[in-house]
Amino acid sequence: MNRLKIRAKMLLLYMIFSVVLLSILLPLVYRTVSASLYQSLESDIQLTVSQMMATSKMQHGEFTTKISPEEMRGLSACVLAGKNKVLFTTQNGNWLQNIEKEDRQVLHNGEIFLVIQEKYEMDNHKLTVVAGSSIASMQKSLEHLRLLLLALIPVYLGFSGLCAFFITKRALRPIAKITETAKTIGSGDLSQRIKQLPVKDEVGELIDAFNAMLDKVEHSFQRERQFSSDASHELRTPVAVISACTEDALTEPQSAETRRNLESIRKETNRMNHIISQLLLLTRGYEGRYRVEKEEISLSEMVESVMEELEEQAAKAGIHLENQVEETVSLVADQSLMTQLLVNILTNGIKYGRPGGVVQVYGDQEGNQVTLRIKDDGIGIGPEDLPHIFKRFYRADKARDRSGSGLGLSIVQWIIEIHQGDITAESEIGGGTVFTIKLPKNKTAE
Ligand code: ADP
Repeated sequence: MNRLKIRAKMLLLYMIFSVVLLSILLPLVYRTVSASLYQSLESDIQLTVSQMMATSKMQHGEFTTKISPEEMRGLSACVLAGKNKVLFTTQNGNWLQNIEKEDRQVLHNGEIFLVIQEKYEMDNHKLTVVAGSSIASMQKSLEHLRLLLLALIPVYLGFSGLCAFFITKRALRPIAKITETAKTIGSGDLSQRIKQLPVKDEVGELIDAFNAMLDKVEHSFQRERQFSSDASHELRTPVAVISACTEDALTEPQSAETRRNLESIRKETNRMNHIISQLLLLTRGYEGRYRVEKEEISLSEMVESVMEELEEQAAKAGIHLENQVEETVSLVADQSLMTQLLVNILTNGIKYGRPGGVVQVYGDQEGNQVTLRIKDDGIGIGPEDLPHIFKRFYRADKARDRSGSGLGLSIVQWIIEIHQGDITAESEIGGGTVFTIKLPKNKTAE
C-alpha cells in the first residue's frame, strides 16, 4: 500500500468503501421491499375476507355468501364454526381447515401460501375465517429484484470507479505539474513556475506556497552567483598588480631566498588568476550571460589541436597523449567551450597521471549521438570522492596537487548541460579514470 501512488490509493479506498456500502445497502433494500410486498399481500387477503364476510350471513346454522369467485381474486378461504366444523369453503379451499393457529406460510401442492386467520361473530355464532393466497408471483418479483440488485453491483462499481478515476486524475493533475516543475528545477532551471489555478483550494494554496518558495530560492541563488561574480571581478585587478610587481621584482638581482619567495608568489598568483577566470566563466554561464555559438566541429581535429597545446605539459609529466577519435565524427557545438572541456579533462589526465602513462581520447557516433571517452591510467579516484568530483571547489585529495582549483569538472559539467549532453566518470584508485561524454550531434543553439 505504501508503494502505491495517491491516485491508486484513493481509487482502492473508494472501491473498498463502495463494496462495503453496497453490501449494507442492497440487502437492506431487498428486505424492505420484501417486507412491504408481504404486508400488502396480507392487507389484500384481509380486504377480500372482510368483503366476503360483508356479503355473508348465518341463518339456522347455515353460512351463505354472495361474493363471486372473481371478487375472491384467487383467494382460497374456509369458514369454520367452533374448532373444526366446516361451514363453507371456496373452491380448492378445503385444505385450509387443517391449518394450525400459528401457521403463517404453508406449503400446499408445491406452492407456498400466505395464510391469515380472522375471528368473526355472526348470528351468535363464533366463526373463524382461514384464508390463504399463493405467494408465487410475489416470489417471482422478489427473484427479479434480487437479480437486478446483483447486476447493479458490477455496473455501479465499474461506472463509479471510472468516474473516480477521471475525477482523481483531474484533481491530481496540478500535483503532477508540481512534480514535473520540481524535476526541472532539480536539473538547474530555477526560472520555472507552476501555473496558478483559478480555484484557491488546497492544491491552489500549495502551488502559491511552492512558487513563493521558488522565488526565494531563485533570489538567493542569484545573490550567491552575483557575489561570486563580483568577488572574482574585484580580485582580478589586485591579482594582476601582484603578478606584474612579482615579474618586475624577478627581473632585478635578488638573494636566492627572496627569488624563491618571489617565484612562489608568481606560482600562486598564476593559480589565483586561473581560479578567477574559471570562476568568471562559470558564473557567467550560470547567469546565462555566456553567448553560446554553435557550429559544425570535427571532433578529431579539435582533439588534435588541444593535444598539441598540452603537448609540452604532458611531456614534462612523462605522459603520452593519444587521439583515437574516428575522423568522420563531427557535431554541432560551441567550439571554444568544447575546447575548454577537453583542456580541463586532459589536464586532469596529465596532472593525475603517472610518468610513462597514457591519456587516450576515443570518439564515435551512432545515429544522432556522439560518444567521447577520455581514458587515463593515472592514480584514479576513490569511490567516496567519485560522486562529488563535479561539485564546485571539490578536490579529492588536496595534498595531491596544489595547482588545481576544484572548478575544472564543474565547468565541464556546465558545458555538457548547455549542450544537452551527459557525462559519467568511472574510476578506481590506482586503476585510472574514464570519462564518458554523450552529446547530441545536431542540437543547434537555443
Ligand atoms: P582540479 O582543478 O582540482 O583538478 P577538477 O574539478 O578538475 O579540479 O577535479 C576535481 C577533483 O577530481 C580533482 O581535485 C581530483 O582529485 C579529481 N580528478 C579529476 N580528474 C581526475 C583524474 N583524471 N584522475 C584522478 N583524479 C581526478
